[in-house]
Amino acid sequence: MKAVVEGVEVDTRHWIGGRRVASATTFTDVSPIDEQPIAEIASGDTAEAEAAVDAARAAFPDWAALPRKERADVLRRVADGIDARAEDLAKVETRDNGALLRSHRRGVMPRSANNFRYFADLLEKLDHPLEDIRGHRQRVTYDPAGVVAVITPWNAPLMLATWRIGPALAAGNTVVLKPPEWAPLTASLLADITAEAGLPDGVFNVVQGTGARAGAALSADPGIDRLAFTGSVPTAGLIATAAAPQIVPLSFELGGKSALVVFEDCDLDLAVRLAVEQFDNAGQVCLGAFRILVHESIAEEFQERVVERAFRLVQGDPRDENTDVSALISRPHFERVDGFVQRAKAAGARAVLGGGPNDELGGLFYRPTILVGAEDGSEILTEEVFGPVLTIQTFRTEDEAVRQANSTRFGLAATLVTGDPERAERVSGRLNAGTVWVNCFFVRDLGAPFGGNGQSGIGREGGVWSFDFYCDVKNTVFAPDGWAAAGGDKEG
Ligand code: NAD
Repeated sequence: MKAVVEGVEVDTRHWIGGRRVASATTFTDVSPIDEQPIAEIASGDTAEAEAAVDAARAAFPDWAALPRKERADVLRRVADGIDARAEDLAKVETRDNGALLRSHRRGVMPRSANNFRYFADLLEKLDHPLEDIRGHRQRVTYDPAGVVAVITPWNAPLMLATWRIGPALAAGNTVVLKPPEWAPLTASLLADITAEAGLPDGVFNVVQGTGARAGAALSADPGIDRLAFTGSVPTAGLIATAAAPQIVPLSFELGGKSALVVFEDCDLDLAVRLAVEQFDNAGQVCLGAFRILVHESIAEEFQERVVERAFRLVQGDPRDENTDVSALISRPHFERVDGFVQRAKAAGARAVLGGGPNDELGGLFYRPTILVGAEDGSEILTEEVFGPVLTIQTFRTEDEAVRQANSTRFGLAATLVTGDPERAERVSGRLNAGTVWVNCFFVRDLGAPFGGNGQSGIGREGGVWSFDFYCDVKNTVFAPDGWAAAGGDKEG
């Protein structure tokens, strides 16, 4: 079962134990660019999830026992494989999820490769010297946990999958990935790349399918030891419930409703640029700062300039280098986004830009939209829209800005723009967010902790925080006389 997408051949079956496996049923993968079907994908269920977990379980002991250097070398070859096929991956991903080809080429694919390279390098540096404690000696070791289930969303499928798979494999685990049904194709290409890189059979597996079937089956499988999920809050609730009886540790990266706080002492050009950047990926970005809070003394000029700049954004086919804003992922998502906007308008908000579908382009193209005058606590200010929809509110004092910024149940990120370093310190300390950006946006380092507060998630990954999650961290204490016989001060 194969599809040819943008000239690239993609095997659309599962990848289990180093073999392509078909299912009795399939589902249709539709491109958001023109709502045309582009592939038939194997639709997995309990049997495929079980088979994949079994394959991962069987491959685990040998992979976990491999000396670190060898494990790291295989993962570096996977990174090289992603680099070598970056153009194919970028084209297929763009057709599949509708995000800009230029972003895939410049940012997403290099980062996907780095998700392997960085954690391979870190694995080799991870060192646990013996420590003296009251005459005894202790050593902390990072034992691989076992089989890791990874469930991912469609807005950056390969990047978000590799962000979990890279550290999970580096730590010595084996993995079963359930990619998003709205954009499943690059996961299949990743399976080819891992095989070519020499990753042993069963170490990485892909079960294609819908969330309700393949995803639910994988979450409830008694053979998994960790579950890393990126997606929405309602799905997280279902997954947590399914995994709870097995007491499986969870790492959740969920939605957001982040604020961009613009103070009167800021560089206004920068603030305007950061505001307009929020339309990237048609607003389908978890970290997006869609709630703009601006000091009332500069609000009029700021709003005018943001609207003027956003009006000039080019909407269209994401394969065109000139396009800035593409289509939304699917018809149901399009209706959902429009529902939020129409209800906000009915409740008194006013669109100073956009406010509805792009009728000239038709399809799933939604106009970049800016709403003002929404009431405090209203749906548009508290729920994640996940579309090209910004709101602008004003504040009078720093306290008011902080209160408004923190007034959701999410806590993924926050951005503030100010020319006052003391204010930057003060306000960043008070914002409820896993990541705070001061006078910048979306700057991320793989060594930094990443995750959200409140309903934006559970846990942190990045750097050693990833190993904390993907490993069973063990402390061994040696009695004064016993330690020398127990040997070495490092892991293999
Ligand atoms: P979603 O929750 O609908 O789906 C995510 C994944 O879960 C998909 O693979 C889906 O098939 C699967 N799934 C659905 N139902 C399931 C079930 N019952 N059991 C197991 N798996 C199931 O989310 P989405 O619409 O694909 O993605 C958008 C969401 O992801 C937004 O809320 C966004 O903020 C969030 N997101 C968060 C981050 C982050 O790092 N915090 C990054 C990207 C996206």
